[in-house]
Amino acid sequence: MKEIYYEEIVNEVKEMCKRANYDLGEDVYTAFKRALTTERSETGKEVLTQLIENADIAKAERVPMCQDTGTAVFIVELGHDCRIVGGNLLDAINEGVARGYDEGYLRNSMIYHPLNRKNTGNNTPAIVHIELVEGEELTLHMTAKGGGAENMSALKMLKPSDGIEGIKNYILSIVKEAGPNACPPLIVGIGIGGNFERCAYLAKKSLFRPIGERHEDPAVAELEEELIGEINRLGIGPQGMGGSTTALDVKVEVESCHIAALPVAVNLNCHASRHQISMFK
Ligand code: SF4
Repeated sequence: MKEIYYEEIVNEVKEMCKRANYDLGEDVYTAFKRALTTERSETGKEVLTQLIENADIAKAERVPMCQDTGTAVFIVELGHDCRIVGGNLLDAINEGVARGYDEGYLRNSMIYHPLNRKNTGNNTPAIVHIELVEGEELTLHMTAKGGGAENMSALKMLKPSDGIEGIKNYILSIVKEAGPNACPPLIVGIGIGGNFERCAYLAKKSLFRPIGERHEDPAVAELEEELIGEINRLGIGPQGMGGSTTALDVKVEVESCHIAALPVAVNLNCHASRHQISMFK
């Protein structure tokens, strides 16, 4: 049985929050550079150039790449043979987020209650999903998820008879409706199957996969490729200024579902697509 100390997790989460906001992931940065070579609109190229410059400044000066420093969302893989000592895992994650957002001068975006709208003052609570896995490792996947892109996300319970065409039309309609409001170029996360709440989780989880990585199921990988092409033909472009780079990638996750159901969730992620991984071995 492996033991991991509460304070180790707090310190690691604190650093993850800062790194996520200062250091754009290599996969996103590389995708910006690649898009610069394929973007057809001059304005689109100019916006991509500014996004690259913005990421460079954030990294060099240790400042957040966007004023919206996001909701801290975690997917935790917790090994059956791993024990947290000195406190519980959820408290450790929340304490790490509070310290990271404070030390890193990151904006506090979370409120106590959706009706009274009072800020909690430390960007907690984090949204934490726990998956139990074999072994004695603890792996934390973290994203600082921007509010604008989250607001333009959606879920629909389609009918099985809507089929693949119904799924594609729904996804395209959501991206079209989002237009500039989700801060493109986007990473489009899609969940198909499960049930109402599981489908939304699948869409979120898909966003944790690095840009360029295709799904292991060839049929799903083909759907991802097809959607990238169709979304980029919508002409929304970088920051909605027009162009051929509306999505840097499309990720699809699928799961079993009820015979009468076809849930589809679209979780949009903006160009400030921030994710971090930490493993406690
Ligand atoms: S949606 Fe993303 S890019 Fe837009 S303001 Fe929020 S974090 Fe920034």
